[in-house]
Amino acid sequence: MSNVGFIGLGIMGKPMAENLQKAGHKLFVYDVVSVPQNLVAGGAVACASSKEVASKGDIIVVMVPDTPHVDAVLFGKAGVAEGLSAGKVVVDMSSISPIATKDFAARINRLGCDYLDAPVSGGEVGAQQATLTIMVGGPETAFERVKPLFEKMGKNITLVGGNGDGQTTKIANQIIVALNIEAVGEALLFAAKAGADPARVRQALMGGFASSRILELHGKRMIDRTFDPGFRIELHQKDLNNALQGAKALQISLPNTATAQELFNACAAHGGKAWDHSALVKALELMADFEIAKKS
Ligand code: NAD
Repeated sequence: MSNVGFIGLGIMGKPMAENLQKAGHKLFVYDVVSVPQNLVAGGAVACASSKEVASKGDIIVVMVPDTPHVDAVLFGKAGVAEGLSAGKVVVDMSSISPIATKDFAARINRLGCDYLDAPVSGGEVGAQQATLTIMVGGPETAFERVKPLFEKMGKNITLVGGNGDGQTTKIANQIIVALNIEAVGEALLFAAKAGADPARVRQALMGGFASSRILELHGKRMIDRTFDPGFRIELHQKDLNNALQGAKALQISLPNTATAQELFNACAAHGGKAWDHSALVKALELMADFEIAKKS
């Protein structure tokens, strides 16, 4: 069993840390807001800073919202870098910029430690059920060392390549998810305006070629009007921003990613940055001046 540091105990980090604790790992935890009391009751040590977590843990997991937060956790005042000693592994499981990730990894490597970028997909339910998909970038030796921990948090665990490649994979994931939400939204809006019951349309499509997890879960959310997050629109905006900035640097065009981002922007303009990302359909509904509603 390892001494595991865990920084960032929000919607995702809390259940992920709980699963590591359940597996018998000793946890050293920190969150800038507050540490969940059930973790402390289960034996986790609540630390006063990321520095303290890094000095006590051998493998330090980070799960915070965005690139500037990871920067602050790693290199800010009383950050991880101040507490590290050689031979440890820093594992960033947040979804952030691949370009910044390469820089963070090089700076951690200079302290004699390994770095893995290991963002996840599967949402809060996947985190709770330990069924996350984990996409990893970094050295194979560090991957093998951390794999037993990954296996307590997820199911489909892949070493994609070097540092940054995990984050690049996560961006690819987020492009597919956003465009799929947009497609399901357009389809259900079309069907409802044409007079068909969107709930039955969704049911009819579930077994066919248009079937997807997004149609299943987010299609249901669109029909039931349940837009509590889940995955907040502002987090998906962050991911698509990384996609579009990356596309600019790579000199390629991602036209439909740009459209999906504009629809998220429209939701945010209507007070929706904390809505679940399935609420993208609301932007389509505004343009159509028509709202999907369940008939039966
Ligand atoms: P969240 O906002 O619920 O949790 C983030 C936590 O980090 C908060 O508790 C916050 O207080 C803490 N934090 C922020 N700055 C900190 C700092 N400097 N030091 C210590 N703690 C700090 O976010 P989340 O939904 O858990 O998402 C975390 C990451 O996982 C994001 O990058 C997100 O894109 C990704 N993700 C989320 C989901 C999802 O469904 N929510 C799914 C897959 C991936």
